[in-house]
Amino acid sequence: MRMLMSLVMGLCFFSLSAQDTYLQCGTLVDVASGKTMKEKTIVVSGNAIKSIKNGYVSGNDGDTVIDLKNMTVMPGFIDMHVHIESEFDARAYLSRFQDNEADVAFKSTVFAKRTLMAGFTGARDLGGTGVNIALKKAIARGIVDGPRIYTAGKAIGTTGGHADPTNGMRKSLMGDPGPRDGVINSPEEARKAVRQRYKDGADVIKITATGGVLSVAKNGQNPQFTIEEIKAITETAKDYGMLTAAHAHGDEGMQRAIKGGINTIEHGTLMSEQTMGLMKEYGTYLVPTITAGKQVEEKAKVKGFFPEVVAKKAAAIGPLIQDMFAKAYKKGVPIAFGTDAGVFPHGLNAKEFGYMVEAGMPEMEAIQSATITNAKLLGVDNNLGQLKEGFLADIVAVEGNPLQNIKLLENMAFVMKDGKVYKQ
Ligand SMILES: [Zn+2]
Repeated sequence: MRMLMSLVMGLCFFSLSAQDTYLQCGTLVDVASGKTMKEKTIVVSGNAIKSIKNGYVSGNDGDTVIDLKNMTVMPGFIDMHVHIESEFDARAYLSRFQDNEADVAFKSTVFAKRTLMAGFTGARDLGGTGVNIALKKAIARGIVDGPRIYTAGKAIGTTGGHADPTNGMRKSLMGDPGPRDGVINSPEEARKAVRQRYKDGADVIKITATGGVLSVAKNGQNPQFTIEEIKAITETAKDYGMLTAAHAHGDEGMQRAIKGGINTIEHGTLMSEQTMGLMKEYGTYLVPTITAGKQVEEKAKVKGFFPEVVAKKAAAIGPLIQDMFAKAYKKGVPIAFGTDAGVFPHGLNAKEFGYMVEAGMPEMEAIQSATITNAKLLGVDNNLGQLKEGFLADIVAVEGNPLQNIKLLENMAFVMKDGKVYKQ
């Protein structure tokens, strides 16, 4: 009996230890030091990195060996600005009136999978209808394939502001949305909107500090919050452990957001030199979204793609983002990788790397901005954002050397998330 027991236990032990995966990596990027290492083997056990060994190691019988010898292996990327529920097209303004939540949900699963397959194992969703919260849960439970999602739920704006969901509608549909729908007009309402999002299951708070391009409203850059309202938002968000992000194109709204304690400025299009100094002083990160700027600039040239009021703003604002980014980077503004995917097709997120490098950021820093930096901002840097023993196994790889040709990141060859291989 005793012998039988130990035999059974031995078998169990054997079958457990036989499930490790050995990733034989030609080049491995250590984002913490900014250096690369040659010929390493990452041993993945369950959903975590068990060890990183020198040379190519194969493990025991029953272990899986994956050959990434001609590849550059990196931590999974995190995009700090996506809208996973939707993808902008000429039909977008109509679909707001036609699509039910279920329609949005089906589409979002496709966009989530595309994002993951592009090497983005994490994404901060900065605003949708609330389906993004359900999607996050479905992904976390393994029902849907997608990145780890940190979501804002529905963004917060002011009446007639960029995130007012009834902008551009006729009076009978307009109503008077309030904090629950993400529209606030006082510090009290601001606090309520943040608490409502916490209750809804959001992880982060997004506000639209200035006008925006794609809303059906005249001004794309005016300040739309008072500093008191912004402070009420950031103080309340802090109480609940939520990171805050402010969409901002205009300089005045940006300054209020920075002084009001917002953690990241999204877009930052018309950022002045003085504001760049403020960003450094307050430790506020810029999330550049250059790819979205390029996209709206392009689409503004297609007649009828945008409503006229939007086309005008798109043509004016789109082309400015990359130059602003170049200046901000040179001045030492902290940068966090983010694209605004959804404004352009999901899955093309890695194009942002190319635009960042084109504007003067070294390849390694661009990769760091999408990994270790974003993990720190999200407060998950104790187990994500690096290839390190004990960290979660979110690992991606491309053929060749992206430190010489950053565009190689657009052809993701290998994706592992939480220890599971999604692309090989
Ligand atoms: Zn956005």
